[in-house]
Amino acid sequence: MDREHVTVIGLGPMGRAMAGALLKAGHPVTVWNRTPERADELVARGAVRAASPRDALAAGTLVVLSLTDYAAAYAVLDPVADALAGRDLVNLSSDTPARAREGADWARAHGARHLTGGVLSPPSGIGSAGSTTLYSGPAEVLEAHRGALAVLTGIDHLGEDSGLAALYYQLQMDVFWTSMLAYLHAVALAGAHGVSARRLLPFLGDTFTGMPEFLKFYTSRIDAGEYPGDVDRLAMGTESVRHIVHTARDSGIDPALPAAVLEIFERGMADGRAADSFTSLIETMRSART
Ligand code: NDP
Repeated sequence: MDREHVTVIGLGPMGRAMAGALLKAGHPVTVWNRTPERADELVARGAVRAASPRDALAAGTLVVLSLTDYAAAYAVLDPVADALAGRDLVNLSSDTPARAREGADWARAHGARHLTGGVLSPPSGIGSAGSTTLYSGPAEVLEAHRGALAVLTGIDHLGEDSGLAALYYQLQMDVFWTSMLAYLHAVALAGAHGVSARRLLPFLGDTFTGMPEFLKFYTSRIDAGEYPGDVDRLAMGTESVRHIVHTARDSGIDPALPAAVLEIFERGMADGRAADSFTSLIETMRSART
């Protein structure tokens, strides 16, 4: 069976991994990148280097975008928007849900279809069914190109709303970055006491491994809007976080991260939630919405 032609625009680490996986699977691939040299290795492996974004769009129906963000996508495609008609844009550039929805509307206005994707994998996971990309937007676009997209990662279609994949991606990144910064802060703090990251690994590994149990325990209570202080109390959590801030200060380590956490706990205390669970802080966060 003939493999579908794929145009890949954007050859950062992610786009290069994607174009490489498609070539390996036997797909004809056309590539374009602002910095043309980034395509050299792919061209040596059989990819066609488009001379311009217009040529890249002309090469085939399926166009995978792997750019820094949606602003970069407009920078590349807006000057050649008249060449978008009939193209299916699979936009794997990350950005906000609002920008993903705007991008889908913009594509539609130019006669193209738009599928949003959030890749939940580093470049090393591309080409593996064990990785997942979250998609949202028209299911028929996904189905039309499922064969080629399945080469990249596993597929999870969240629904027709173009913003959903971007939203779920941001939710994952919200947890990822705040958790990784907490990890780095603990390593810095440990280092100030002569404890290496390697020595700390099994302890922090256990902390992270235990997290799903906490999530499972609190999820139904949070969905029910119930925050009883039967297991933990906000007053206790506030003092616990204060100890972290003081330990960081005493150790000469930047306390900004735990201090930001403490500030939220203190707002919850000021809201009168001392006897509730720390999960009641979700109401404090919600009341801060503007
Ligand atoms: P990079 O930022 O390294 O590369 C992005 C690409 O965007 C490059 O090809 C770059 O071109 C191009 N680009 C940026 N700005 C412009 C512009 N104004 N005009 C034209 N081209 C532009 O990103 P990655 O490859 O790492 O990732 C791509 C997307 O995938 C991002 O949205 C990222 O958030 C997402 N992602 C990345 C992961 C990762 O681990 N790397 C994991 C999951 C998702 P040039 O080469 O000329 O600079």
